[in-house]
Amino acid sequence: MERLVTSNLKLGIIAGGQLGKMLIQEASKWDVISYVMDSEKECPAASVASHYINGDRLNYEDVCSFGKMVDVLTYEIESVNTKALKKLKEEGVKVKPDPEVLELIQDKGLQKQFYEQHAIPTSPFTLFQGKEEILRAVSSKSLRFPFVQKIRKGGYDGQGVAIIETEKDLGKLLEGESLVEEKVPIAKEISVIVARNEQGEVRSFPVVEMVFDKQANLVERLTCPANISEEQEERAQSIALKLVNSLEMSGLLAVEFFIDKRGDVIVNEISPRPHNSGHHSFESVITSQFEQHLRGIMNLPLGSTQLKMPAVMINLLGEPGYEGKVKYEGLTESMAIEGVKIHLYGKKITKPFRKMGHVTVLSESLEEAVGKAEKVKNLIKVKA
Ligand code: ADP
Repeated sequence: MERLVTSNLKLGIIAGGQLGKMLIQEASKWDVISYVMDSEKECPAASVASHYINGDRLNYEDVCSFGKMVDVLTYEIESVNTKALKKLKEEGVKVKPDPEVLELIQDKGLQKQFYEQHAIPTSPFTLFQGKEEILRAVSSKSLRFPFVQKIRKGGYDGQGVAIIETEKDLGKLLEGESLVEEKVPIAKEISVIVARNEQGEVRSFPVVEMVFDKQANLVERLTCPANISEEQEERAQSIALKLVNSLEMSGLLAVEFFIDKRGDVIVNEISPRPHNSGHHSFESVITSQFEQHLRGIMNLPLGSTQLKMPAVMINLLGEPGYEGKVKYEGLTESMAIEGVKIHLYGKKITKPFRKMGHVTVLSESLEEAVGKAEKVKNLIKVKA
């Protein structure tokens, strides 16, 4: 008997950004009816959703009334009213991943405590009420340079993170409840996406390596497979699987790691949703991260995560200095390069460093894919 993949299953997605859009693209293969709630009518997912609902994801009433319209409710961003999600779950709506998992992940302090409780390797940390308390700890020498301050709630894409190397950086300290952790001597940043369904079946995607744009503090390029040792690959995957099992969650968990200068693999942070570092999977893996998330939240068998071809992904970011109605340059020229796959999210307005789309480059060898990605990076410009 068909359980969930039927033409009348209603899938609700809170927030309609690019992750929601790509999730719907995959859901539509199964003829699922998609509902998306966002405060912006022209959000990327609205163009592909069966139904668009206007609403504020942080508003209790909006989330509750949206949840009641659907059979399975998920979200594509962490900042959602979890009180409303918990209420919906109590009333029998299938909210996946669980609201309790989201609540834990929303708070970087609770995340770190969870790692500690489950013996997951992470950098040592202390929780602070705010800036003043951090300054007192610095004066009393109980906190030593260099360190990294992170606001416990609401940070994203490097906002809410202050790297304090010396006394001169103390002016960068942020207001609000924070965690302070040791600055890791980073050799590499990698990510592993894992999936789990209610039956406890788990799968891991191949490890990806993230190279950061220092100015924008966003991923500049990601490569799969990652250029790391087999031992590090196995270590990262086993930690990610341990995390998804300890959280007993359904759906995807993206785990970001640092590899330090000694070669140790340590967890930085986790997200319970499709992730920028998994976009390449659309073309390069047998089951994309979006399809796998759907399989996970609908309690369907998980799909193969075998890599079909080496891949490089680059984000298409708004050029600094341009804001307004978006104009793309270089798309056609890029498409002429063998193995180049372009994704535009459909955002009407560009801003400096805004994620407007991405490009995946597939090639027989990773080196060749990196070279082609460099060419594409020079060709495509997102201007206004
Ligand atoms: P966000 O959730 O906003 O993406 P992250 O925790 O990923 O924040 O931090 C953003 C970036 O800051 C990381 O990708 C990394 O380059 C740097 N960073 C974060 N924590 C540390 C740390 N403990 N040591 C050194 N660098 C760090």
